[in-house]
Amino acid sequence: MSRFWSPVVETLTPYVPGEQPRMAGLIKLNTNENPYPPSPKVAEAIAAEMGTLRLYPEPTGHVLRAAVAARYGVGEDEVFVGNGSDEVLAHAFQALLKHERPLLFPDITYSFYPVYCGLYGITSVEVPLDEDLRVRLSDYDRPCGGIILPNPNAPTGTALSRAEIAALLAAHPDAVVVVDEAYVDFGAESAIPLVKDHPNLLVVHTLSKSRALAGLRVGYAIGQPHLIEALVRVKDSFNSYPLDRLALVGAAAAVADEDWFTQTCAKVIASRTRLEAGLSALGFATLPSSANFLFTRHESVPGATLAAKLRERAILVRHFKRPRIENHLRITVGTDADCDRLLEALHDILRA
Ligand SMILES: *Cc1c(COP(=O)(O)O)cnc(C)c1O
Repeated sequence: MSRFWSPVVETLTPYVPGEQPRMAGLIKLNTNENPYPPSPKVAEAIAAEMGTLRLYPEPTGHVLRAAVAARYGVGEDEVFVGNGSDEVLAHAFQALLKHERPLLFPDITYSFYPVYCGLYGITSVEVPLDEDLRVRLSDYDRPCGGIILPNPNAPTGTALSRAEIAALLAAHPDAVVVVDEAYVDFGAESAIPLVKDHPNLLVVHTLSKSRALAGLRVGYAIGQPHLIEALVRVKDSFNSYPLDRLALVGAAAAVADEDWFTQTCAKVIASRTRLEAGLSALGFATLPSSANFLFTRHESVPGATLAAKLRERAILVRHFKRPRIENHLRITVGTDADCDRLLEALHDILRA
């Protein structure tokens, strides 16, 4: 504590991201980055933009919003863009999710949600996942000021169907429902087609996972214009230029490259199936995943032990020291070569 701090700072519990160590030969399966490089069109677009860095970027992110609108068949006024989906989510918490009644989200979910609640003074209720670590929609049948959930959920990887999201929207016509689709491209159904009939739906996407651009920091939200306007009002009270020129053109190029996207998502999904089979042969039980990671638990060895022993072998996975999931590991799906190294290491560890 410093006497110079604003009082709120003392009360904050900041988010702790997965580590990004600089270690030679490291196999990094801890933060759900894409194992493949982004579309080559991204570097081309960025190179072509370099000559204009003297000038401020276009403040509304038009070039990127147009690319997203074209890709998803929505209006440009239904798209908001931000500096990573974390920033888009932060604005959504402030602009749409702070009400008298509490915000609902799962007890085991993206751990940034409670952090935003702390930052913005939002009252929340954590709704427990069921005994199979799945979201049970009937548990959300209660008065609330809003709902936010990832679909697929993180760190569990299980998904709700579009019909289930539609039912949730219909059950809460007076509350905003934010669906954080960070992992949707790896095998779940997007709620974007529901936007036109649901004035209370905001869908949030990131380019960090399925577009392999975690380092560029770009995310976006799709919703009806009145929701987008709320986000724009907060953004323009905060930072006029959250996305730089390189991020805008690079992200637009990535969103437009359908071939690269289809091929790499298919590769990750195929590697996921293979990794799950390998883990199963070693005595792991894995939740059904629609994401680019697996949430898995060994029949006898604790998660913390496995994570520590993998680390000694320069393989990073994510372990959460939290009740109910202490014995699980969240393992990002890497290339087949990465996954094989992981399986070999686990084999050695378990034999010892
Ligand atoms: C990775 C992730 C994000 C954040 O993505 P950025 O665009 O990199 O900020 C948001 N939500 C969930 C559930 C994620 O896993």
